[in-house]
Amino acid sequence: MCCIFGLSAVSCGSSPGSSSGDSTDDISVVCTIFPEYDWVRNILGDNPGSVKLSCLTDNGADMHSYQPTTEDIMRISSCDIFIYVGGESDSWVSGVLDTAVNKDMRVLSLMDTLESSLREEELKEGMENAGAESAEIHDEAEYDEHVWLSLRNAQRICSAAAELLCEADPENAGYYQENLEGYTGKLSELDSSFSRLAQELSPERKTLIFGDRFPFRYFTEDYGFDYYAAFVGCSAETEASFSTIAFLAQKADEINAGTICVIEGSDHSIAESVADNMKTPGVTITELDSIQSVTRQDIKDGATYLSIMEKNCESLCNALEGVQEKNA
Ligand SMILES: [Zn+2]
Repeated sequence: MCCIFGLSAVSCGSSPGSSSGDSTDDISVVCTIFPEYDWVRNILGDNPGSVKLSCLTDNGADMHSYQPTTEDIMRISSCDIFIYVGGESDSWVSGVLDTAVNKDMRVLSLMDTLESSLREEELKEGMENAGAESAEIHDEAEYDEHVWLSLRNAQRICSAAAELLCEADPENAGYYQENLEGYTGKLSELDSSFSRLAQELSPERKTLIFGDRFPFRYFTEDYGFDYYAAFVGCSAETEASFSTIAFLAQKADEINAGTICVIEGSDHSIAESVADNMKTPGVTITELDSIQSVTRQDIKDGATYLSIMEKNCESLCNALEGVQEKNA
């Protein structure tokens, strides 16, 4: 076990949506996905301004296929701050904003905020369709949307979100600023701990094998990891051909991988096939959480962005320790 991650999960006193009174003056913040919601929740702290905070996909909707209901559109249309990803999956946003009732709405797009550090989706050797889907089919660059999986990106987005909150509720600006500093401090602490660990690894141990889709590009690039995966980004594909499985198994053997990674909700079948086709014995399967299917129940049960990222770092760390033991 790896126990460098001593941060405890944040418990947050605010109870979004249950703000007192029905005053129409209450500030409302609408977020499209859980990480945005949780970041704002941390900045709001005890929520002295009774800000109403909600998340559109907390019913378990998949952000890649989510379309707003009439009720969602009304909620967005009249809100004060709207936070969304800004990638191909929420291209519906521009239409909704065009018809928004609140013309003074403050809008935050994660991808616009991070513009200079965006990464294109990457078709890597061995992936399904890596040969067929060449540059000529994809004439336009498709940016990877999973920007929230970088702890460094998260800090920049939190600062941008706090700025909007301070503008909308200047009375509590000092308090929000304080919460922002405390929270980004925790994000930065986890980032540094994991960074230190990653630096100790030799280059050949810094390759991950994903028997799955690969939404973790921003996360792994922060620490200089390389990867091979069955599918690009959050491709809707689920069937891997034998050549993809054989390729991943061969790469995994080359680096003596002790672990094949999958993302949350995976049935592990591709990862198991990869492990079965490896020469290396005793390979385990490790699940990383891409934080795109957090439900209302998970939130009630205390899920936080920081606790999930902490778990991801820990899982990766245990997986890599496995490699080191094997190679020792
Ligand atoms: Zn995704």
